Amino acid sequence: MAERKPLISGNWKMHHTHLEAIRVVQKLSYALKDTDYEAADVSVHPAFTALRAIQTLIDADRLSIILGAQHCHWEPKGAFTGEVSPTMLAALQVTYVIAGHSERRELFGETDEVVNLKVKAILANGMTPIMCVGETLDEREAGDTDAKVSGQVKAGLEGLTAEQVGGMVVAYEPIWAIGTGRNATPDDAQATIASIRGAVANVAGADAAATVRIQYGGSVKPANAAEILAQPDIDGALVGGASLDPDEFAPIVQAAPRRG
Ligand code: PEP
Repeated sequence: MAERKPLISGNWKMHHTHLEAIRVVQKLSYALKDTDYEAADVSVHPAFTALRAIQTLIDADRLSIILGAQHCHWEPKGAFTGEVSPTMLAALQVTYVIAGHSERRELFGETDEVVNLKVKAILANGMTPIMCVGETLDEREAGDTDAKVSGQVKAGLEGLTAEQVGGMVVAYEPIWAIGTGRNATPDDAQATIASIRGAVANVAGADAAATVRIQYGGSVKPANAAEILAQPDIDGALVGGASLDPDEFAPIVQAAPRRG
């Protein structure tokens, strides 16, 4: 099986001013050791207003923490009041951009087509998309989880090359588990993520499916992280609430399996 280094990402949503963000990244960087970065890549996704401050901090202190963003428009520039372009993020040395988070889909009307446009624009600007997929509680109870996520995978990856798909990140985030304190059991998350990997293989081929990293997201905490991250198809975690506090986020990073 391909070597897929886990990626542990902290999605801060609409939390932390740039001053708070600086304090969080400083504290996180004190807590994490070289061996932690050998076991996992670690990204933080502050609000747009804190990106420049965190970029400068990472640069000045040569931190191994990777800068991510939560969202972007797909056009490089134009009359889109309030939006931020992928070109602007790339200029801030952003590496990972979340696309299609369920909160964006549900609260801001992002469709699969929009997610696909964003994924393409993020890639075209030399960054890596973290494309989120996941089912509602009703869809889960109706037995529609696999159909829902494989449909989102197919639509979101439309028109990409196998190489592009193989280098990106997909996050499986069951919507009923986000911010609710309820998480999919490790076995359930593993099964759905294996099925997402199958959907990627159908769209982009076996090689892309072997290298695409697929995170789990939904109420990941220090207490459940190790068991989730130990699953063979789970290549890291997208963490919301618990990533806001470095005392919680650092142990989640440190729960990534050690190799060798
Ligand atoms: C998220 O924001 O993507 C998320 C998974 O949130 P939480 O960890 O709080 O459930």
